[in-house]
Amino acid sequence: RKRIAVMTSGGDSPGMSGTVRAVVRQSIASGCTSYAVFEGYQGLVDGGEMIREMKWEDVRGWLSEGGTLIGTARCKAFMERPGRLKAANNMIVKGINALVICGGDGSLTGADKFRNEWPSLMEELVSKGMRTEDDVKPYKHLNIVGLVGSIDNDLSSTDATIGCYSSLQRICQSIDFIDATAFSHQRAFVIEVMGRHCGWLALMAGVSCGADFVFIPENPPTENWEEEMCNIIKRHRAMGKRKTIVIVAEGAHDRNLNHIHPKMVEELLSTRIGLDTRITTLGHVQRGGPPCAYDRMLATLQGVEAVKAVLEATPETVSPVICIVENKIVRRELVKAVQLTQEVAKAIERKDFEAAMKGRDAE
Ligand code: ADP
Repeated sequence: RKRIAVMTSGGDSPGMSGTVRAVVRQSIASGCTSYAVFEGYQGLVDGGEMIREMKWEDVRGWLSEGGTLIGTARCKAFMERPGRLKAANNMIVKGINALVICGGDGSLTGADKFRNEWPSLMEELVSKGMRTEDDVKPYKHLNIVGLVGSIDNDLSSTDATIGCYSSLQRICQSIDFIDATAFSHQRAFVIEVMGRHCGWLALMAGVSCGADFVFIPENPPTENWEEEMCNIIKRHRAMGKRKTIVIVAEGAHDRNLNHIHPKMVEELLSTRIGLDTRITTLGHVQRGGPPCAYDRMLATLQGVEAVKAVLEATPETVSPVICIVENKIVRRELVKAVQLTQEVAKAIERKDFEAAMKGRDAE
């Protein structure tokens, strides 16, 4: 009988609670015992009450809840081996032999490291006298499955991460609100959106709201972008447009990797075009609130698939991450997905923006 634990880790996103609900209920429906690890890897390291058995009714109503109701955290201790040794010990104490993790690429990297180290962690537990040979015998392998929860939509190998469409929806709503007042006063607004190193939210918000100009990290503007942007906006104004919307991704920079700050854009619009310009930083409203229908669907279908992957895993299977590709729920190699994602970051660092753009498309 499998004992499956689910946890959420790293930055929160709408739909994480729905993911936990799906994993808990599918685990129970499949005849397994379900556990939740509270507060991400910190809960795994601390053990005790932080790892609790979950019943069917414990997750009632969670599908429409924002954030993650089992908490999430960034955990330094898990970055080091002694922390992971404690985590392994706690899992054995609770009898857990499979772990489903919903988080970003950092959390998934940690998960894979944990799985690779698992046999040596078992040896260390025995050699240090923390567990006996008999204790660790049933735990030869750790079964790990990843789910991608992030508003940034920054993981390669999947078309969408759990939470990204809720966040995009919130951004669009916010820009609609701003549009009305911008139109009334003929103002310009520079809007900063989240996404860390990924421009997906900014770009899709730009498309969905008809923005005048968008700054994203993967495809920085040309060398003389100041002039280019001002010309485009002047042209739009000359065509009778009463409002101007410029979207700046939080990770935006120029071709030399100098950060493009909304303040710089605001100054350009005010001084060069003479527009009455305001800055709006949308901030954490982009992460909160109830998940949209798409994220609820993704959370549920992917949570179910994660439990199936746990039940079908053999010691030889490589750890999967559950993805959506061309509208189908599929399993991909967790390590590869993380590697592809990190390659995009590296491409940006070495200013190879063509590779960065290609990397975002990569399966
Ligand atoms: P995200 O999962 O959203 O990318 P982080 O990168 O902050 O967020 O990772 C969340 C947590 O995952 C970290 O606080 C740490 O506990 C764990 N983690 C991340 N990277 C590693 C790693 N290389 N080794 C072990 N644990 C890691």
